[in-house]
Amino acid sequence: MRSISIFGATGSVGESTFDLISRAGGPQTFRTVALTGGRNVARLAEMARALRAEVAVCADESCLPALRDALAGSGVEVAAGDAAIADAADRPADWVMSAIVGAAGLVPGLRALRHGRTLALANKESLVTAGPLLMATAAAHGARILPVDSEHSAIFQALAGEDIAAVERIILTASGGALRDWPMEALANATVKEALAHPNWAMGQRITIDSASMFNKALEVIETREYFDVRPDQIEVIIHPESLIHSLVGFQDGAIMAHMGAPDMRHSIGYALNWPERAALPVARLDLAQIATLSFRAPDLNRYPALRLCRDVMSMRGLAGAVFNASKEIALDQFLAGQIGFMDMAGVVETTLARLMPEMCLETDVMTLEDILRADHLARIRAGEAATALAARR
Ligand code: NAD
Ligand code: MG
Repeated sequence: MRSISIFGATGSVGESTFDLISRAGGPQTFRTVALTGGRNVARLAEMARALRAEVAVCADESCLPALRDALAGSGVEVAAGDAAIADAADRPADWVMSAIVGAAGLVPGLRALRHGRTLALANKESLVTAGPLLMATAAAHGARILPVDSEHSAIFQALAGEDIAAVERIILTASGGALRDWPMEALANATVKEALAHPNWAMGQRITIDSASMFNKALEVIETREYFDVRPDQIEVIIHPESLIHSLVGFQDGAIMAHMGAPDMRHSIGYALNWPERAALPVARLDLAQIATLSFRAPDLNRYPALRLCRDVMSMRGLAGAVFNASKEIALDQFLAGQIGFMDMAGVVETTLARLMPEMCLETDVMTLEDILRADHLARIRAGEAATALAARR
């Protein structure tokens, strides 16, 4: 029986993973080791009972008594706190879903890789923050990382059986997010509610705002560089409002392989769960005659400064990814709290990069976890200062 763990089980990707595991037979088919969540202990406990998990862990320590009550008599162990989540990654499991949001997913993912597990990686922030470290850890321990981000799953599938040396370009598709059709001058005053109205994908709150600002795509450009052996200038971004093509790979003979499907994360989660095989998945089938047309347009870099910043980050290398991600997380917190405007988020990130780089550049890509955590910590402080300065000017 295959054993699994889900980190970030109560989130959007976590729920979709739970859904696929449950449909595939739940505890009859899989042995569930660890399920983790943030504060939603009622849902975490419900999932842990349904899958008969070995342990349920919530990130918020103040939620432990409630989790213990909710799982009383179930035989499921309980724990709380960041250290307990990381410890849960030491428990043997064949397949581990990394679906915590933000850099908080880094340490649990790294711990799972150190034990040689297969890591289904939705947590793109860990790859942007610490790509070379994660890849080196996976290689050193014979672990495999399977992409779950829909674009990277699409690329991974388009590359199956291909030689990466024959790849000319990778084209990431972007929906453009909730504010895609707004006039540029109006963006500065966009509210959280407006930025959350995503046209195609139902996702967690943070990634939905990141889609509107294209910070999500900027993270994904860097993520592409970490996963696949291509140069930054081989990675392109195209706006594709229908979100039916999940990404494309162009080869040196001019052929382009595209991955299509409904905008449903169970495509890529299911692919990672069943890899290297394909299994039937409960996703909608596309009716091409009804869809009739697909549209594309080039992104305007003035409108989406994040897409310009990710290029700078790739040329700086080293700890720039950690600084980029952490300052973006703080900028997003400040936007969600109503402290800074929508377009200010890029300003916070740009200012933080300018203040901390280039002294954080490393000679090589060999980075330790301590280097990364220090860069992440410093970037959060500097980004907080930059946000405060911007808020004072509003
Ligand atoms: P979400 O906000 O819906 O869920 C996040 C999960 O992490 C929840 O279980 C939450 O309780 C937990 N969590 C939050 N903060 C935590 C912390 N500090 N420590 C431990 N646990 C914490 O997010 P999501 O949309 O499911 O996204 C999860 C990850 O997958 C992100 O990295 C996101 O970028 C990526 N991703 C999501 C989608 C999507 O469709 N939602 C698509 C591609 C990639
Ligand atoms: Mg994506």
